[in-house]
Amino acid sequence: MNYQQIINEIYGHVSKENNSGTLANYIPELSNIDAEKFGIYLATTDSREFQIGNSLEQFSIQSVVKIFSLIMAYRLIGNEIWDRVGVEPSGTSFNSLIQLESDKGIPRNPFINSGALVICDILISNLTNPKQAFLKFINTISNDTGIIFSEKIVLSEKSVGYRNIALCNYIKSYGNIENNPDEVLDLYFNICSIEMSCKELSKACLFLANNGKTLSTQEKILNSSQTKRINAIMQTCGFYDESGEFSFKVGLPGKSGVGGGIIAIHPNKYSIAVWSPKLNAKGNSYRGMKFLELLTTRMQSSIF
Ligand code: GLU
Repeated sequence: MNYQQIINEIYGHVSKENNSGTLANYIPELSNIDAEKFGIYLATTDSREFQIGNSLEQFSIQSVVKIFSLIMAYRLIGNEIWDRVGVEPSGTSFNSLIQLESDKGIPRNPFINSGALVICDILISNLTNPKQAFLKFINTISNDTGIIFSEKIVLSEKSVGYRNIALCNYIKSYGNIENNPDEVLDLYFNICSIEMSCKELSKACLFLANNGKTLSTQEKILNSSQTKRINAIMQTCGFYDESGEFSFKVGLPGKSGVGGGIIAIHPNKYSIAVWSPKLNAKGNSYRGMKFLELLTTRMQSSIF
């Protein structure tokens, strides 16, 4: 199958269509992004790489980072993690507070903001320098030492972070945050601020398509069972309250972020990163969703 040709055709098609949606302007810094940026990078488990558009330009990966924080916590405390955070799709928006009361402070899954805050708390409890360890982990899986936190994005998010502050304090009131909420929020805002290109992101996530092993260094990041579980959570919870729709139309495990990035994994085949900053009403990249739907349809490569 000619991956490059298929990518070129779909990219051309989606680029010509109306670019609907809005930027994530609730974070002031994210409203300064050029809304027409559009990049794709696909890396295969047999070491081939295909790209088009703004695939080498770094963007704010936002919630896509929650895959990495979850994996770090999973490596640190194993299955105990599931006592603190569930694995059910929430069916509510990424920053919703409403389920936390009935669920007694146990977030539905690690990818909504409440769940990611609990994961940050686990990292703080188990690491002496969680920020440094986080960057080191990303460097290991991506074989790239150039990835850093964006101070500008951190400050921008902190300046409007009322909802996340509320979530963190609310969970603390149920006893499911061990550390000082300010410390937890600081780590959360920092990890969300990481910027990566489609190339960096697809290569960093390739181990999820490769049975838990990095392609470049053959380092085992997760065992096979853990890898399947992370992919399963991405499949069911990766797109906020549009996770069912993504499964239905695209049929791959994936994760989106409000910076307009999406990562999707085809186990044993490839990892693909897509970036287009305009978001649909559910907070997922409008063009990214469209591109991936057309791609898996054309390549007949959904996992189902
Ligand atoms: N840092 C963003 C927030 O907390 C992440 C949102 C997202 O990408 O889902 O609002």
